Amino acid sequence: MLRSVILAAARSGRVAHLVETAPVSRSVVRRFVAGAHSADALRVTRELVGAGLKVTLDYLGEDTLTADQAEHTRDEYVKLLAALQEAGLAPSAEVSVKLSALGQKFDEKLAEANARAICAAAQNAGTTVTLDMEDHATTDSTLDLLARLRGDYPTTGAVLQAYLRRTEADCRELAKEGQRVRLCKGAYKEPESVAYTAKLDVDKSYVRCMNILMSGRGYPMLATHDPRLVAIGEDRAKWFDRSPDEFEFQMLYGIRPLEQRRLAADGYTMRVYVPYGDQWYGYLMRRLAERPANLSFFLRAMSGSA
Ligand SMILES: Cc1cc2nc3c(=O)[nH]c(=O)nc-3n(C[C@H](O)[C@H](O)[C@H](O)COP(=O)(O)OP(=O)(O)OC[C@H]3O[C@@H](n4cnc5c(N)ncnc54)[C@H](O)[C@@H]3O)c2cc1C
Repeated sequence: MLRSVILAAARSGRVAHLVETAPVSRSVVRRFVAGAHSADALRVTRELVGAGLKVTLDYLGEDTLTADQAEHTRDEYVKLLAALQEAGLAPSAEVSVKLSALGQKFDEKLAEANARAICAAAQNAGTTVTLDMEDHATTDSTLDLLARLRGDYPTTGAVLQAYLRRTEADCRELAKEGQRVRLCKGAYKEPESVAYTAKLDVDKSYVRCMNILMSGRGYPMLATHDPRLVAIGEDRAKWFDRSPDEFEFQMLYGIRPLEQRRLAADGYTMRVYVPYGDQWYGYLMRRLAERPANLSFFLRAMSGSA
């Protein structure tokens, strides 16, 4: 309920204006976002890699409306990838890309051309790209584009969302040799016709999907902060005899940082999703919607007491 209210408020232009122009909210933003520029992304990447973690970088921006904006996003990723290579960080840091930021909603061909340019830059730099998954209306077109990209860039990774009823079948389809698949719960507000809406049902679906991916032949990327699911992931790794280079855990920057370090110290591959850029609004609102405690932290920051 609270989640729906926050996600609905997030779409309100007035709320966006209030939050984006309130300077105090910046402290809240910094908890989850590396900063506005690629230099911030590189600094945070260096820190995390120095602590034994891997990174995936997300240049914030979604629901792009013009070709110019989409091309700006493409160029930013291409520059970032060159900078990662130059800094010697490419072996430990990849990029995560939202197709809606590359023009998917108004010109799929443009989005594909932009995605190809980013995949080529990643290949040159010696790293990989993962296509983030957005709302269910884009799932088919994202998976179709992924299949085409993988023809030329076979390491391109997919994201599947456990809250969607279709995802078990998608996991079976993708649990194959060479497929990198990030499994997350899902962050968008979806109708009951396509998604499980009760937390317990989403969690059960996550476990079924994890079992398919961990017993399959691909490379599973278990993206969750949920302590129970992390423990089940550790258990399945032992059960299916997967070594640390045969799967990984993933968490978001700023969420459960001690657990991220604990998993790395225990020998697991732990990748942190680090967003940067000034288009942080939609991302931040989804993080607030996930956890009421974040909302009270946010409201205190807005009123100047945090
Ligand atoms: C690396 C990564 C990539 C992702 N990519 C996508 C994507 O492409 N598409 C998509 O739809 N979603 C994506 N997500 C978001 C995901 O779908 C969930 O919305 C998000 O991870 C919260 O779910 P959870 O598994 O952590 O479990 P939850 O049940 O939400 O949380 C479990 C516990 O984790 C902690 N926690 C969770 N969220 C927060 C938070 N915001 N602040 C503080 N503590 C928190 C709390 O202790 C909570 O009790 C991604 C998540 C990760 C980690």
